[in-house]
Amino acid sequence: MEIDNSEQRIRDIHQDLLDVYGEQADYDDSDGVRQLLITILSQNVADENTARAAENLFHDFNGYKEIEDAPIGKLADSINPAGLPETKAKRIQRTLKALREQGDSDKYSVEFLGDMEDSDAQAWLEDIKGIGPKTASVLLNFHFDANVMPVDTHVERISKRFRLIPFSASNKKAHELLNEAVPHEIKNSFHMLIIEHGKNNCTARNPTCEETKLKKYCTRYEMVENGDLDVDQYPPED
Ligand code: SF4
Repeated sequence: MEIDNSEQRIRDIHQDLLDVYGEQADYDDSDGVRQLLITILSQNVADENTARAAENLFHDFNGYKEIEDAPIGKLADSINPAGLPETKAKRIQRTLKALREQGDSDKYSVEFLGDMEDSDAQAWLEDIKGIGPKTASVLLNFHFDANVMPVDTHVERISKRFRLIPFSASNKKAHELLNEAVPHEIKNSFHMLIIEHGKNNCTARNPTCEETKLKKYCTRYEMVENGDLDVDQYPPED
């Protein structure tokens, strides 16, 4: 099956996702710095763990300055439920330092990013070690409604199953291709709905393929559930 990420196909998939799951609530946080830190905590971990780590973080420290200045061990202990605590603690402190140094006061703000071109804002964020395309694009899309497509693990997996992008695409490449292909006004909704599909039906290991009408777009369904490819052979090479 050839790659098909035409606008019409993406709009059809989006409409079917809407029919199945309904419009999803936006989780924009009015405090962009807080949203960015929570997105760092959420890297490669389940939502419940992110929520516990975020609750600890904002309970244990009184403001961003205290978080930036905290001993790494203390910060890591606080955010431990998010996994990779030392790594994420360093990422959080590097991010806060970069935000503080960007302004001309000791304030922490992301609002200057809203005045930049989307690609420049994305590049500025990705210059911070530990912030990749997903973390940057979540902030920019959710907080600023920027024309950038966040691609988390669910979006990447399902976009490959739907043949919107090649099976071999890296996460960075997936961002580039989906950013180009998904219309701006549905980027956020498409992202949220695909995540819902990934959590409820199209899981990595045991997708419930008969349950939804999305199977008509799906190469895994065509090749494995409805074809003769062994599940171990999926995905095939591009
Ligand atoms: S058919 Fe299965 S693998 Fe394909 S999109 Fe549906 S749940 Fe996912």
